[in-house]
Amino acid sequence: MGALTEKKAMHKGRTWDSTPVRTTCPYCGVGCQIDLHVKNNEIVKVTGAEDVEPNFGNLCVKGRFGYDFVHHPDRLNSPLIRKNGELAPVSWHEALDFTARRLAEIRDTHGPDAIGGISSSRSTNESNYAMAKFMRAAIGSNNVDNCART
Ligand code: SF4
Repeated sequence: MGALTEKKAMHKGRTWDSTPVRTTCPYCGVGCQIDLHVKNNEIVKVTGAEDVEPNFGNLCVKGRFGYDFVHHPDRLNSPLIRKNGELAPVSWHEALDFTARRLAEIRDTHGPDAIGGISSSRSTNESNYAMAKFMRAAIGSNNVDNCART
C-alpha cells in the first residue's frame, strides 16, 4: 500500500483525513459516480464509486483528474448580463427574468425560427430532453441541436 501515489493528492493528507462526498461526474452523459475527497472545503482527490453503476469504480482521465476548475479563481460564480457594454454580475432571478423577456421579444418580433437552442453532451439525457421540449413547446422552434452531433 502506498507504493503508487497520485501526484495531485500528494502532501494533501491521508485518505481518512478527508470526507467523501458522492456525486456525478460533470464531464459527459455517461454519468459515472464519483467520490470527492474533501478536506478543509477543498477537493484533494477523486475516486470512482465502486458499488454502483455505470462505472463500478472505473473513471476516465477527465473524471479522475479534471477537478482543478472547481477552485479556479477565474471560475464564474454568478450569471453575467452586459450593461452599458460591460458584463456585470447579476442574481439568477434577474438573469432568468432578462432571458425570458428577451426570448419572448425576439419570438414576437421576428418569429420562433429566429431562435435556436444548442444543448451539451455534458448534460444528462433528461436535461437535453427538457431543453428540446422547451424549444418546441414554449418557443415554437424546431431549431434544436447538440454539440456532439458534428
Ligand atoms: S469519468 Fe469519464 S466516462 Fe465517466 S462520466 Fe466522467 S467523463 Fe464521462
